[in-house]
Amino acid sequence: MRLAEERDEVIDIARRMTSDRLVVGTSGNVSVRAGDLVAVTPSGVEYDQLRTADIPLVDLSGEVVEGELAPTSELPMHLTAYTEHGAGAVVHTHSLQATALSLLRDEVPAVHYQLADYGGAVRVADYATFGTPALAKSMSKALRDRNGCILRNHGTVTIGGTLTKAYNRARQLEWLCELWLTAAKLGDPALLSDAELEHCATLFAGYGQTPR
Ligand code: 13P
Ligand code: ZN
Repeated sequence: MRLAEERDEVIDIARRMTSDRLVVGTSGNVSVRAGDLVAVTPSGVEYDQLRTADIPLVDLSGEVVEGELAPTSELPMHLTAYTEHGAGAVVHTHSLQATALSLLRDEVPAVHYQLADYGGAVRVADYATFGTPALAKSMSKALRDRNGCILRNHGTVTIGGTLTKAYNRARQLEWLCELWLTAAKLGDPALLSDAELEHCATLFAGYGQTPR
């Protein structure tokens, strides 16, 4: 079987989306790229029932090259993230706070320096029906020069070099939206300036452990 490790990683992250309450039931989808192939969740299958072989492998044109199950209905979004935004992995959730914010704002207000990890203000993409090329197009516009966006009245899309990175961005984005919504209930939240966010973005480039 090809890409067994990547397929298992897709299952692992899909299950974490449920246990971390970023999705309910079979909502959301996950994929990771390996060379010219993408391992992606199948459409409408409970994550706790998935086994390695159930994860379809598709090429970058969307053709299934291995697996019996149909890939996610959001394949156009996933493929667009790979071909137009250099993603190594893609996570799509229906997380509550981010979706709630999308009903109220065109971007995530600059409530915290952690937003710098997304490359700037996280935008809300115009609404389009799930699974359509129109949604992939709308996502692509919002994702320009960013590592994540919110889909209006729908959910989130985050990308990264690895599935762990893309997933942590999905969780962090939910936290940022919850922070704003929590504060906005009580008053007018104080925000960071564009200059400070840019400064933090440069600090993020060297954040964490540097190899010796
Ligand atoms: P799939 O089950 O086809 O992946 O659809 C879930 C979803 O979130 C559609 O937007
Ligand atoms: Zn969805």
